[in-house]
Amino acid sequence: MTFNDRTALVTGAGRGIGKAIAENLAAKGVKLICVSKNPDSCGAVADAITAAGGSAVARAIDVSDGPAVEAAAADLLKEFKQIDILINNAGITRDGLLARMSEEDWNSVIQTNLSSAFHWTKAIGWPMCRNRWGRVVNISSVSGIMGNAGQANYSAAKAGLIGFTKTVAKEFARRNVTANVVAPGFIQTDMTAELNEEVQKAVTEFIPMRRFGQVDDIAHATSFLCSEEASYITGQVFTIDGGMAM
Ligand code: NAD
Repeated sequence: MTFNDRTALVTGAGRGIGKAIAENLAAKGVKLICVSKNPDSCGAVADAITAAGGSAVARAIDVSDGPAVEAAAADLLKEFKQIDILINNAGITRDGLLARMSEEDWNSVIQTNLSSAFHWTKAIGWPMCRNRWGRVVNISSVSGIMGNAGQANYSAAKAGLIGFTKTVAKEFARRNVTANVVAPGFIQTDMTAELNEEVQKAVTEFIPMRRFGQVDDIAHATSFLCSEEASYITGQVFTIDGGMAM
């Protein structure tokens, strides 16, 4: 994979999938801006990347806060001159059956998982277009493709990301900026550790490969989509799920 002195911003880089993506890109020589709500976690990831010989800074930004994202993006663009790769990965779940789902849980999931991508892509995507090179990867979920009982808010946000990405791909294509979706199935992270043992067992039975994926499974594919070699791939959804959503 070729990366020519690129800078990437990864949201939710403090742990789990976002951390693995940040580390994978950094290992390929990409400069990293690690964003998370929690300053300690993204700070630790940036420090580890730097200690390993890479280049990374950390920024604590709540991605669900649109004006804060736009202000932070403007500052970062001044500081880094250009940001070539944007990974919208930060996400939360607030699960519950629709009949009992509060409007607050609906709104917080939509704002964190979907509106965040709107604000970051709007702020950083246009400078990419002016620069005639860019990569946007939005981390969705198989829940956005198949639906999932108990996740009306989450599956709506993740499905929304797919439509959003396809539109961004069409709007940015002539400027050599690609936009794609990675839709993980069940990946071993703190997010899925919240599922009780019984649910984890039932889910595993449903996965043709009979196991959860690892964060690196997502990171490798995401890095490829950000490389020079992926320059003709845009508007696509890559499910990485052990065969679940075939
Ligand atoms: P995680 O909970 O382990 O990590 C999420 C990260 O996002 C954390 O660093 C957290 O601080 C950050 N974050 C959350 N809310 C934020 C906010 N408002 N502002 C800034 N940062 C915020 O989750 P994960 O399992 O690594 O999942 C990463 C992404 O992949 C999410 O979008 C998730 O929906 C998606 N996904 C995960 C799985 C899975 O099985 N783990 C499956 C499908 C999709």
